[in-house]
Amino acid sequence: MAGLEIASPERDGNCPRCGGRGIILQGDAAVPCDCMAQKQAEQLLRQTGLPKAMRACRFASFRFDYYAGEHLARARKAFEAARGFAAQVLADPAATGIMLTGEVGTGKSFLAACVANELIDHERRVLFIVVPDLLDQLRASYDADSGVREQDILDVARSTPILILDDLGAHNYTEWVCNRLYTILNYRLNEQLPTVVTTNLTLPEIEEYLGHRAVSRLFQLCRQFRLTAGKDIRVQLSVEREGRANRP
Ligand SMILES: [Zn+2]
Repeated sequence: MAGLEIASPERDGNCPRCGGRGIILQGDAAVPCDCMAQKQAEQLLRQTGLPKAMRACRFASFRFDYYAGEHLARARKAFEAARGFAAQVLADPAATGIMLTGEVGTGKSFLAACVANELIDHERRVLFIVVPDLLDQLRASYDADSGVREQDILDVARSTPILILDDLGAHNYTEWVCNRLYTILNYRLNEQLPTVVTTNLTLPEIEEYLGHRAVSRLFQLCRQFRLTAGKDIRVQLSVEREGRANRP
């Protein structure tokens, strides 16, 4: 039956159903095992994951000089929390996560990407998911042609060893969205799976949008840190870049 094997770069030899072959027999027919569908969902989420520009983000390149006064004090705390979390999770797969709150352009996603890259450098399985993309993928899974089932996407987000949910923002929080996010958070809390969240929402806003249940899970999953900058760092960076480019 070797000819029927489905090529996959990271097949799991531990799958109890197919033993890692990726197919199971149903009567005389060989059909893809469920674990293949999950891998497909994971690959899909990885594609929409850590943006290319963020693969270079490292703690060593964090720019404290963009912060001053009280903003700098907060940035130091958040930085230490993020770096501490990355170190802790390397030693303890059930480490408590962190939530970075703050307005757009305060460095939250940069720090979350530093965590992701640090762990990837240490060969940990990290899933970096931009929340609006996750919600798009879940909605798209209703299209029968998409080839990926909602359940598989949810299973991957729920059970991945380390999950980073970037940009939990002011989306359209229908009951459907809230339920999906809740099941992810609740599962991860029960299984003690480390989770990092970045959001530009305030805590009361999160409660208003996501509801009390989800917020209580978030607070149990993550220690909170707030980043402020007094200005948009990304705007400042692009001004600097242009300034450099315009120099004779
Ligand atoms: Zn399998």
